[in-house]
Amino acid sequence: MPTPSAPRARPETPRGLDFDTIVIGAGISGLYQLYRLREIGQKVRVFEAGTGVGGTWYWNRYPGCRFDSESYSYGYSFSQELLDEWDWTEHFAPQPETERYLNHVADKLDLRRDIRFRSRVTAATWDEDRQVWEIALEDGARYSARYLVTAVGALSAPTLPRIPGVEDFRGEAYHTALWPKHPVSFAGKRVAVIGTGATGVQAITEIAKTAGRLTVFQRRPNWCTPLHNRPITPAEMAEIRRGYPEIFERCRETAACFLHTTDPRGTFEVSPEERQAFWEMLYSSPGFAIWLGNFRDVLIDREANALFSAFVADKIRQRVKDPRVAELLIPKDHGFGTRRVPQESGYYEVYNQSDVELVSILDTPLERMTPTGIRTTEREFDFDLIVFATGFDAITGSLDRIDVRGAGGQRLKERWRARLETFIGVMVDGFPNLFMVMGPHTALGNIPRSIEYNVEWIRDLLAHLERHGLRVADARRDAVDEWTAFVKKKGEGLLANEVDSWMTGVNQNVEGKNVRIIARYSGTAPEYREWCDRVAANGYRKLTLA
Ligand SMILES: Cc1cc2nc3c(=O)[nH]c(=O)nc-3n(C[C@H](O)[C@H](O)[C@H](O)COP(=O)(O)OP(=O)(O)OC[C@H]3O[C@@H](n4cnc5c(N)ncnc54)[C@H](O)[C@@H]3O)c2cc1C
Repeated sequence: MPTPSAPRARPETPRGLDFDTIVIGAGISGLYQLYRLREIGQKVRVFEAGTGVGGTWYWNRYPGCRFDSESYSYGYSFSQELLDEWDWTEHFAPQPETERYLNHVADKLDLRRDIRFRSRVTAATWDEDRQVWEIALEDGARYSARYLVTAVGALSAPTLPRIPGVEDFRGEAYHTALWPKHPVSFAGKRVAVIGTGATGVQAITEIAKTAGRLTVFQRRPNWCTPLHNRPITPAEMAEIRRGYPEIFERCRETAACFLHTTDPRGTFEVSPEERQAFWEMLYSSPGFAIWLGNFRDVLIDREANALFSAFVADKIRQRVKDPRVAELLIPKDHGFGTRRVPQESGYYEVYNQSDVELVSILDTPLERMTPTGIRTTEREFDFDLIVFATGFDAITGSLDRIDVRGAGGQRLKERWRARLETFIGVMVDGFPNLFMVMGPHTALGNIPRSIEYNVEWIRDLLAHLERHGLRVADARRDAVDEWTAFVKKKGEGLLANEVDSWMTGVNQNVEGKNVRIIARYSGTAPEYREWCDRVAANGYRKLTLA
C-alpha cells in the first residue's frame, strides 16, 4: 500500500493555463483526487464552497449525525500510516469524529496549500479552441485548466420543502446539511422537525432528549432498523488494525463494498422457525446486516419482501405504545429495503414520550409556513425552532447547480434532463476532459471504497494521456449508450426501482424531478470495477483520445 509521498517533478503547466487540473469539492473524493494527481506531478487546485475540508462531514453538523458504515470500513484504505495512527472510537462514528479524521488526513498529506475555501464554482465552460476548461467562481474570479474533476457529492445539494412562506418564519430555522457551527439549544423550546428520512431519524432521536416539545412532520414513514452502535475499546481497535487487510479485502468482494453480504438462501427455502430465528438475529445485529445480509430474494421477490416487511412492522408495533402512532410509522406504500433504510438508536421510543407529537402530512398536508410556525390543512402550529431534515437534490443536484457547458455550448443539465446517461459514471460524451468522482451511474454502497476506485481510474487515465502526449479524452457515444443500457439492465427486477425515492430520481421538492428514472447503478461493485479495468486494459478504446 502506498504511503504519503512528495509530488514528482514534472514539466511546467501548459502555457497560459492556471492549473493542470481543477477539482471542485474538498470532501473525501476531492481530497483523494488532489493527493493522487499531485503524485503524477500535476499542478492542481481544489475549489471548495465551505470553509473547511470534509464535504458531507463538514456540512452535516446536526445532532445525531453519524455513519451507518462501520467506521473502520469507511476510512481511506490507501495509506498504511493513516491506518496505523488513526483510532476510531465508535463502531459507527459521529460526525465530529469523521470531520476530525478528514482534517487529520488533510494535514498529514499537506493538502490545504492547494485548496481554496469559500469558493463556490458557478460555471464551467469547455473552450473548444484552446481545449481547456474555464471555471467561474461566485465572486467573479475565473481560472483555467486542462482537466476538470467534479467531486461535488451525490448528497450535497440541500433542498427545502416547496411550500409557500418558507422564508417567512421568524424563529430559528436550520437545514440539517447547513447546520451552524455554534451550539444549538433545544431546551425548553417548541421544536419542529420536517422530514423522517435517514437524517431526520437521527436528528429526531437526539432532539427529543432535550426539546421542550417536539412535533415531527412526516410525509412518508421509512423502515428504520436498529444501528446497535457501541464504543470501540483500545483492545478492539488494536484487533481491527491487525484485521485491516481482511476488512478491505471483504469490502472489495461484496456487492456494495460493505462488510455485509447477502445470505445465499431464499426466504422460502428454510423452515418458518429458521427464518424467524435468522431475522431476529439480523434485527439485533449492527449496521446494515439486516438490509444487505438478508436472504438473497428479499429485495427482488414480492412475497419474500412482504413477509420480511411484516416482521419489521411487528417490531415497530412492539416498540410504539400508541397503536395509532405505530400504524402511522409503518410504511404502507413500499416494502422494506426498497428505499434507503434509516439506522436508528431509540427512534421509535421517542414517540412514547408525552412531549412528542407525530403529524402525518400525507393526511394533513403542509399549507404554508407562517412568521410563527407552520400551518397544515387542519391546524396552525407555533414553534421557536424549525429543523428542515428535507434532504438533498440527490445524484445530479450539485452538478445541476453549476452551469456546465461542453462542446458546442451544450449544457450538462439540459442533456440530463432529456436522458440521464454517462460513461461508467465518470464521463459524458461531448464534455471532453470532464471527469466525475461519484457521478451518476457509478457504484455507490460504502462510498469511500468506490471513491478510491474512481479517483485512481481518473488518475491512471490522465497519466496515460501525459505518457502518450495526448491532451483530450472524450467518451465515445456508443460507449455511453452501452454503459447506460448495462445500468438499465442491472436495475431490472429490483423492487426498489418501482418506488419513488432519490434512488429513482424522484424528489417532490425539486422542480422537474417527478418522473422515475434509473438514477443509480445497481449492479455489484466488483462488476463495475471489472468493466472499468477492462476499459483501461484495452487502451481506453471506449474513449476518443487526441
Ligand atoms: C448525513 C449523511 C450521512 C452519510 N453516511 C454515510 C455512510 O455512513 N456511509 C457511506 O458510505 N456514505 C454516507 N454518506 C454519503 C457521503 O456523502 C459519502 O460517504 C461521502 O462523504 C461523499 O464524499 P464526496 O467527497 O464525494 O462528496 P461530499 O462529501 O458531498 O463533498 C462534496 C463537496 O463539494 C463541495 N461543492 C459542491 N458543489 C460545489 C461547487 N459548485 N463549488 C465548490 N464546492 C462545491 C461541497 O461543499 C462539498 O464540500 C452520508 C451522507 C450524508 C449526507
